[in-house]
This record gives sequence, structure tokens and C-alpha cells, in this order.
Amino acid sequence: MPERIDRKSRHEIGLIRTAAKINAEAHQAVQAAIKPGISTLELDEIAESYIRKAGGVPAFKGLYGFPKTLCMSVNEEVVHGIPNAEKILLDGDVVSVDCGTIYKGLYSDSAVTWPVGTVKPEVLKLLAATEEGLLAGIAQMRPGNYLDDISGAIEDVCKKYGYGLVRNYGGHGVGKKPHEAPFIHNFRTGEQGPKLEEGNVLAIEPMFNLGEDDVYTAADEWTVLTKDHLPSAHFEHTVVVTKGEPEILTLLQ
Ligand code: MG
Ligand code: MG
Repeated sequence: MPERIDRKSRHEIGLIRTAAKINAEAHQAVQAAIKPGISTLELDEIAESYIRKAGGVPAFKGLYGFPKTLCMSVNEEVVHGIPNAEKILLDGDVVSVDCGTIYKGLYSDSAVTWPVGTVKPEVLKLLAATEEGLLAGIAQMRPGNYLDDISGAIEDVCKKYGYGLVRNYGGHGVGKKPHEAPFIHNFRTGEQGPKLEEGNVLAIEPMFNLGEDDVYTAADEWTVLTKDHLPSAHFEHTVVVTKGEPEILTLLQ
């Protein structure tokens, strides 16, 4: 029998909900500032100051040695890009903004890929499809379903559009720690995995590529890029399994 997924108490879910609300608002503050000519470091500072003012703590700063509040990954960068004063957003770019917030010791995690200025329709379509994959995965988060139902739903959306699927990274449990078991593949593994139960809190995060699946890590040992250097998109929400509809805690209002 696969191990059961941790079930958060009502009190813990309340704190994760607050962490997630701050996280979503930090994303909105970043989105409002995104324009051609701004550096990824300036956006990082906006997120950090928003989170701290709201009573939260940036979850990624110092996590495994990561130096900043946001992971900002531009165009062919998939995840884990490091904000930098020299990295200036240009018209036509897309930027994945991944942010985590801690509130009273509880964690939330979410990511959005934003267009910068005017972006090619084929890249906008990739963004929409990746978000569709995220929502399809979340829709499977019902008691009695299995972890692999989430993975399979994401894979099906990716295949429907013929995009590359990033296989080396995926979703995870979240709440008491930034990354908890189980790891959540964005494709069917052939094993059902644990059954989902009320109170499970999961971060679902598909990454789809315009080109092929393959990615590599840059010399900075953080930034993950597509091998073919075609653009990638990444969307993520922190979601709790309830008796009925899954509740997306990091939804932008
Ligand atoms: Mg994240
Ligand atoms: Mg995550």
C-alpha cells in the first residue's frame, strides 16, 4: 500500500489559506509592475517587500541555498531562474514567476507565466494550454481519486496540444514544509499512488514546452532551460482536497 498523504487540520489549513492569500497578492503586485525594461531583480524586491509587509516570510529565500524571493524564468528558462539586475524583460518575452510564502510556519507555493508586452500567438497558446493542464490536474483532486489521476489529466492536456512535457520536475505536498511527499509527476506513472483524502494539500505545477521535453541545468546550478531553447510555460497552485470541489488557495482574485 502506498503511504497516505498527510492530512492538514482545519487550523493548519486556515494558516495555509492566509499564506496563500499573501502569495497571490504578491503575484498581483509583481504582475502590475511587469513591463518591458524592468529587471527581474526589481520584481523580486516588489514581491519580497509585499510579503513582509503583509506579515509573511518569503519561502524560497535561503531554501536549499536559493538566494532570492522569486524564481523568475524567462522564455526558454523553465524554472529556478535567479532574479538579477542585469536580466531585463523585453517586449515579446514570457516570464514564469514562482513564489512561496510562509505564514506562522505554514507554507504556500504558486507560479504564473506572464506575457511581457506583445507576445507571439503561438507562445500565448502555450501559456493557456499549460494553465489548462494545471486546472485539469486540480479537477482530479477529489477524495477517492488517486494521485496518478492528477498526473494523467495533466499529461492528457499536454498531449492534446502536442507540446513537450517537462518530466524531471513536478508537484508536491505542501504546508508544514515547502516540499512534502508525495512527488507529483506531470505524466502517468503506471502506479495509482496514494488515494486522495480530505485535508491533503498539494502544489500542482505542470511545465509545458513549445518544443521537445528535454531540459538541462545552467552553469549557475539553478536555472533549468529547454535543450532546444524554445519557450516553456509553468503554472502552479496550492490546493486543498475537500469533501466536494477542490479549493484553490492561491487563486488570484
Ligand atoms: Mg513554486
Ligand atoms: Mg512548487
